[in-house]
Amino acid sequence: MKQSVPEDLYTQLGQKISLTSSGPNLLALYYIAFDDLAYLDDVMDRIQEDFLIEKIDKKIHSLLDAADLYSKIGAYQYIIAHDVESAKDAEEFAKHFIHTFSEPCIINSHMFYLFASIGISLYSIDAQTIDELINTAKSTMKQVQKKGKNLIGMGQTQPTFASSELYASIMRDLPAALENNEIYFVYQLQYAIGTKRFTGAEILARWEHPHYGPISPSLFIPIAEQNGMIAPLTIHSIITASKAFEVLQAERIHDFTLSVNISPSFLMTSQFNETIKFLTSNYALDTEKLRFEITEEVLMDHTDYLKQTLLTLKQYNIKIELDDFGTGYTSLKHLAYLPIDALKIDKSFVTDIDTSEKKQSLFRAITEMARALDMEVIAEGIETEEEHQFIQNFPAITAQGYKYAKPLPLEAMVKCIQHT
Ligand code: C2E
Ligand code: CA
Ligand code: CA
Repeated sequence: MKQSVPEDLYTQLGQKISLTSSGPNLLALYYIAFDDLAYLDDVMDRIQEDFLIEKIDKKIHSLLDAADLYSKIGAYQYIIAHDVESAKDAEEFAKHFIHTFSEPCIINSHMFYLFASIGISLYSIDAQTIDELINTAKSTMKQVQKKGKNLIGMGQTQPTFASSELYASIMRDLPAALENNEIYFVYQLQYAIGTKRFTGAEILARWEHPHYGPISPSLFIPIAEQNGMIAPLTIHSIITASKAFEVLQAERIHDFTLSVNISPSFLMTSQFNETIKFLTSNYALDTEKLRFEITEEVLMDHTDYLKQTLLTLKQYNIKIELDDFGTGYTSLKHLAYLPIDALKIDKSFVTDIDTSEKKQSLFRAITEMARALDMEVIAEGIETEEEHQFIQNFPAITAQGYKYAKPLPLEAMVKCIQHT
């Protein structure tokens, strides 16, 4: 598929590729996205936004050589391409780019920082065609964008700017880690605003590496998705849920849901359905109280296949939550078409909601839409008393965040429920 990039950039990339393929160098393509700057709406008007774009453009130009390709391809998104001698050189350029933008911007007497995520792909290591070159850099950029700010990702595999030694260790040690119980699960409570009670928890993976110490799931889950370990890991998390249901029952904690994260790369395999069938018939899974969190990225393609999978889950009464809602690709069409039970509003909508009227309007609109579609709403990442005060205006929703509880081991969670 041809990319939606300017025609002349496409032609120039073609010329660069043919030159590169006859020499010793690599062609590095950088897909650069600055943070979604929508949050600046409050302080900037149109003219000032143009001024900011011009400022960015000037700064980028100062980094380029005459032979470099450069194109603006979307709102705060850019492509740069040039020859490099090695992958290391490409990485150095990306670092230099981020460093150049590390000074604050001042517009309309407001000071703020620009953060960029950069995906790099190299011809002919990561890609053999123009489309592959752009696609790889773009998807790498998207991966790193999810993980934080000012991050660089290289090629098809390396998900963040983690040192390659750590990356290689994760790849290597992940299978044994599951067997050795270095990977375990914690529970983050969910608080029903209306009844002021804990009514459920999300199960989150943790890894205590013997050499590196705790490794964030944001780092090892994407690797597990690539090396096939996501299937055993997910099975492990569902079995953990079944054991937790037994403990909760023994403690007389009823009407309590447990949510498990299901990665798209596992959900969309035929193995997934088989696995769920096996687990539901062999484990004491309280499926009425089991929930699966899926992220919006699965909604991109194959919606018919996804619908079938979700309908199968419905037969077991497992509820489906759309995780990180608002950050991805959901079109309203999907919400009408797919059997989704709950929307989990992403933390980015909730952070500082008490001071942003726009966020408040968005939040209200999402909850009203969910009510119209007969979906529940869970608000994620509530940290402060002020955020909690705002959320209290919505008695129908459930809230999750450090304000109520950090992710806890099972016993600690049980104690917490019993003392509320
Ligand atoms: P997620 O599914 O969006 O999970 C919520 C993340 O936000 C968790 O990070 C949680 O600890 C954190 N969090 C909760 N409340 C707050 C808050 O008030 N403030 C802030 N700043 N953060 C909060 P965690 O545990 O590091 O997990 C990160 C991501 O890793 C998860 O994001 C999920 O995508 C993935 N993940 C974790 N466990 C699993 C798993 O068992 N399977 C799969 N497939 N993915 C998992
Ligand atoms: Ca989740
Ligand atoms: Ca989430």
